[in-house]
Amino acid sequence: MTKKVLAVGEIRDGEFRNVSFEAVAAAKEISAGGEVVGVLLGENVSSLGNELIAYGADRVVVVDSDKLAGYTPDGYSQALQAVIDQESPEGIVLGHTAIGRDLAPKLAARLNSGLVSDATGVETAGEEFIFTRPIYSGKAFEKKVVAEGIVFATVRPNNIPALEKDESRSGDVASLDVDIKDLRTIIKDVVKNTASGVDLSEASVIVAGGRGMKGSENFTLLDELANVLGAAVGASRGACDAEYCDYALQIGQTGKVVTPDLYIAVGISGAIQHVAGMSNSKVIVAINKDPEAEIFNIADYGIVGDLFDVVPKLTEEFKNV
Ligand code: FAD
Repeated sequence: MTKKVLAVGEIRDGEFRNVSFEAVAAAKEISAGGEVVGVLLGENVSSLGNELIAYGADRVVVVDSDKLAGYTPDGYSQALQAVIDQESPEGIVLGHTAIGRDLAPKLAARLNSGLVSDATGVETAGEEFIFTRPIYSGKAFEKKVVAEGIVFATVRPNNIPALEKDESRSGDVASLDVDIKDLRTIIKDVVKNTASGVDLSEASVIVAGGRGMKGSENFTLLDELANVLGAAVGASRGACDAEYCDYALQIGQTGKVVTPDLYIAVGISGAIQHVAGMSNSKVIVAINKDPEAEIFNIADYGIVGDLFDVVPKLTEEFKNV
């Protein structure tokens, strides 16, 4: 049976985060040929509606309000609830981002419906939605079958490929007026503290440094390599604890979970808690002076050497590519 599924777009600095298009692709799969309705929540976002359609949404519902200029749980949940009330969908897909992780369970609980979080794959079989998601810190994957009821799902960035953009697609972009009230949180200022311009959780290349970097000043070596590769810079908790960099860069069990095409681990030992956040990267390169370091057990390519020799050489070589 075909289904109506909402795909919630996420906008940052006036542009979609890629996971928005991945959510549309997941919604398309779940809909089994039914309708995919893109949802846009924010201030001055209506003009972006057509981009969701180009990526596969059949139409888009926009809640545009100055009360949605920044994310607040109260404001966004009222807006999304209004869209759900209007559309009565069978499924709602969001990115597994800070916003999706906050919004999806809040509304799922309010609507007494199920939630599958952090899905890395989705398929349909008859009436059922089947989601794949990692368990035991990424060491195994489980399949969750949702047989009935509305289902909320959050999809992990960089796992479900977005559909090809097709600007010739057309669809309705309609506004929904929502009286957003009783906000208990007001965003006064947003302080950005990621070191590089590339979003870590969506980056296709990540250069991550560990305690082997020996000091915050040496992270410039990683910045230089990252600049040449168009990569984001990440870190182990060892590096963050040693105050070499901000905790916003931490990758791992208690940091960000990333799945880039290429992950370069520099001076990182490969502790289980770090590996939990990056082991699903497509290609892993490890640079470590200790040939016995655990990180080499999961690396596709290993360079045994002093990072202070290896990294500048790599940067120079990549400049020539
Ligand atoms: P180390 O283990 O000290 O490794 C440094 C590496 O650098 C070594 O392998 C060394 O050989 C190499 N090295 C040193 N000098 C050089 C050089 N000149 N050239 C090349 N290589 C060199 N950790 C995380 O990363 N993320 C998490 O989310 C996380 N969550 C945790 C949650 C809990 C509950 C706990 C208990 C721990 C958690 N940890 C996490 C910490 C984790 O256990 C490790 O302590 C941490 O990952 C170690 O960081 P590291 O690899 O940078 O440092």
